[in-house]
Amino acid sequence: MKCPACDNRLEQMKVEDIVVDVCTNGCGGLWFDPYELKRVDEKHEAAGEILLQIKKNPAISVDYSKQRPCPHCEDQIMMKHFMSAKQEVEVDECANCGGIWLDAGELGQIRDQFTTEVDRERAAESYFSETFDKELEKMLEQGEKNAKRAHNIAKIFRFICPSYYIPGKQKWGAF
Ligand SMILES: [Zn+2]
Ligand SMILES: [Zn+2]
Repeated sequence: MKCPACDNRLEQMKVEDIVVDVCTNGCGGLWFDPYELKRVDEKHEAAGEILLQIKKNPAISVDYSKQRPCPHCEDQIMMKHFMSAKQEVEVDECANCGGIWLDAGELGQIRDQFTTEVDRERAAESYFSETFDKELEKMLEQGEKNAKRAHNIAKIFRFICPSYYIPGKQKWGAF
């Protein structure tokens, strides 16, 4: 597989029972198949430590604003998603295969945010219920254009906090 950020060849790295595709001696990015990231996204998950030390080529610079192709699927452009409710880390996700691309440094940022999965979800829940529940309701009352924006926010929310998102059960309705 080719690196979606710098075109280098990705190397497979076995981390306990998962195999992560790593851009060694390139941009230092990481490719996770669905659910693999969950195995290493918290600090107590020691398996992830080795992934924080990928050797990079300092001569390579990456355009972080650019949309990237999925390294796994043909002709599929990945979507940008915030990985945390406070929108601090933006990652690329393939809507087709569900894989996630992290740029160098992003796994460390994600691991530093929360100690457990429960904490992560709780933070997302309170953030969304404080901020977005009211805002989304308002947007929906304001007609079509805002409904589309509301829909996009709801989609981000569903990605960050799938266990809290129940289609049609939120105050702001079904998306
Ligand atoms: Zn790369
Ligand atoms: Zn894909």
